[in-house]
Amino acid sequence: MTENSPFELLIECGGCSLENLIQGFRLGDHAICNQCRENMLAYNLADTHQGHTCDSCGRAYLLKSETEFVNGESECQCGAQDFTILDMKDFADKITKAQDKALDDEEGDAKFDWCRPAPTNGVNKEDYNEIFDDNPGFL
Ligand SMILES: [Zn+2]
Ligand SMILES: [Zn+2]
Repeated sequence: MTENSPFELLIECGGCSLENLIQGFRLGDHAICNQCRENMLAYNLADTHQGHTCDSCGRAYLLKSETEFVNGESECQCGAQDFTILDMKDFADKITKAQDKALDDEEGDAKFDWCRPAPTNGVNKEDYNEIFDDNPGFL
């Protein structure tokens, strides 16, 4: 996985345990649970989750530690059964750093974006709007 290249992320919510599939996830993006609206990356992932990436399609699986996952038996959506263990400490660290950076960037061009009627490259911005709408206490 390289910095900032988008990948598919399947993450099990630390709150309600729903599996959320996020297409085109980038480090620095937020991941909000579809069901309970928790920020799934706000958990201490290194303590609560295990990580695996599919060797074939690159999809990342972040599953709660107690979820059963057996390399060679569990099967990826793409049909492959070979996974590489993701170092959750390292991953969580990268996410934190990328989010700090994203927040800085966001503040930097927020004024600029407010003036525009319809942001076109929107995925990231929409996420942010949702966070502020639904979770005013976020941060
Ligand atoms: Zn949830
Ligand atoms: Zn796969």
